[in-house]
Amino acid sequence: MRKFAIYGKGGIGKSTTTANVSAALASIGKKVVQIGCDPKADSTLNLLHGEPVMPVMDYYRQYTEGPDFDHIGREGYGGVFCIETGGPTPGLGCAGRGIIATFDLIDELEVFEKLSPDVVMYDVLGDVVCGGFSAPIRDGYADEIFIVTSGEKMALYAAANIFKAVENFKSRGYAQVKGLILNRRNVDDEYETVKAFADEHGLPIVADIPRSKEIQFYENKGMTVVEGDPELPVSRIYRDLAQRLLEV
Ligand code: ADP
Ligand code: MG
Repeated sequence: MRKFAIYGKGGIGKSTTTANVSAALASIGKKVVQIGCDPKADSTLNLLHGEPVMPVMDYYRQYTEGPDFDHIGREGYGGVFCIETGGPTPGLGCAGRGIIATFDLIDELEVFEKLSPDVVMYDVLGDVVCGGFSAPIRDGYADEIFIVTSGEKMALYAAANIFKAVENFKSRGYAQVKGLILNRRNVDDEYETVKAFADEHGLPIVADIPRSKEIQFYENKGMTVVEGDPELPVSRIYRDLAQRLLEV
């Protein structure tokens, strides 16, 4: 079982990238579990034709107990099993704690033992790398980290922070940053800027994803572009990225 975490600044394209990679992996016959770790709880929406799963934290709020196996998530496109941690009531509580509670529940319900996935994808908000948000990299959940970034300053700033957080835990033999995923915003000298950052941190750029209006076109239909039109160049880029992840 390969366990990847996709980190990056909010709004940079983590969920889009993760869901498309999951869809691409599913299309080559891999069993995938995707776990959205963002209070926005929209990581898996495009795998579910726009019909969201109930986030685990919402379940706790509504029923005081956590969900059982039949309610922790649902299968979406290509059999990808979709889970969302969700978050606290805005202004109350800590989002990180929701992530940890969800991971504990996944262990307790033996979700991975029951589904035996080939790949687990964690889609994690990386603006603040507090205890909870670093849980996927700290407690042996994800082994291989990829950071989504554009050439924008704030995206690279978040990427640098995530890199530092992972380095801080490295001595304990946990996860490693394996590469950067460039998701273009079409700022000036974007490739050069991200390449310089990559070289400085000794990381490869494992994908170069163009800005593509087709992504939003299919998003409006509740789909990944990989599902919507597998022949598009951008869909091919996501499939190549999925292959690359399996090979690194
Ligand atoms: P995050 O999960 O990092 O918060 P999302 O994946 O939800 O970000 O992306 C934010 C918005 O940007 C979405 O509406 C998505 O459709 C759009 N988006 C992401 N990547 C691209 C891209 N390569 N081309 C066009 N739109 C994109
Ligand atoms: Mg997201």
